[in-house]
Amino acid sequence: MKLVFTLVDVDYNVQSISQFLDNSQTAYWTEPIFAFTPQIDRSKIYQLEKQDQELYLRTIFTQLVEENKNTLKAKRIAYQNHWEICLPQITEALKSAFKINLEEEFNDMNAKITFNPICPRSLSEHSFDLFYLNSDKGAVGIAIHEIIHFIWFKVWQEIFHDQAEEYETPHLKWILSEMVVDPIMRDPLLSSINPYFETGCVYDYFYTLFIDNKCILDHLYEMYQQMPIDKFMQASYKFCQNHEAEIRHHIETNE
Ligand SMILES: [Zn+2]
Repeated sequence: MKLVFTLVDVDYNVQSISQFLDNSQTAYWTEPIFAFTPQIDRSKIYQLEKQDQELYLRTIFTQLVEENKNTLKAKRIAYQNHWEICLPQITEALKSAFKINLEEEFNDMNAKITFNPICPRSLSEHSFDLFYLNSDKGAVGIAIHEIIHFIWFKVWQEIFHDQAEEYETPHLKWILSEMVVDPIMRDPLLSSINPYFETGCVYDYFYTLFIDNKCILDHLYEMYQQMPIDKFMQASYKFCQNHEAEIRHHIETNE
């Protein structure tokens, strides 16, 4: 398992952010962008056509990349160094969670340091965006979250032989994959080095999603402890299918 933290150019930042500013996203997704980048005028951005929107963002990010040149370089080194320190215990925890040999696999992972506070990921490329204002510990916490997705879906595909399109929002398989990060992260080897664990290492609306008076994450944790990972994937998915209407209703009212 190998993860490299990299710096990206202005264009990458523009693409990463603009995909969330196409008018189809709720405030849940767009608010952090406006909060962390007040240079983006929200009344202006939505009036622009996609091409002009990108030109507008390019001006803003050209300046931001230049102004933060040294910070970005220092962050990249700090993230990488802290990752290497934590790597043995992360590998041990994930090997035990997924029962796979991680020495030979996932050697091509890439964390792209961006101005996007949302961290979109690419399963096929084993890459994800990482917000530049994270601490080194926070960066490792985010990385563990994303890597759990990569390994989860690799193991999942071997069991279900399904289509990767279903691993993306709004599919139920995607929703489940976002929830199971919590039970897996409860391993003290991971939770102890993830500063986001206490306040929430998955979308906050999952913590208030109750099924039969119990938080759905606790239901999943109980199942996760009781069975091997392949059985857990099947049982947890069945559980989500049985409660799909409640789950979707809760997300829609809270997103
Ligand atoms: Zn996620």
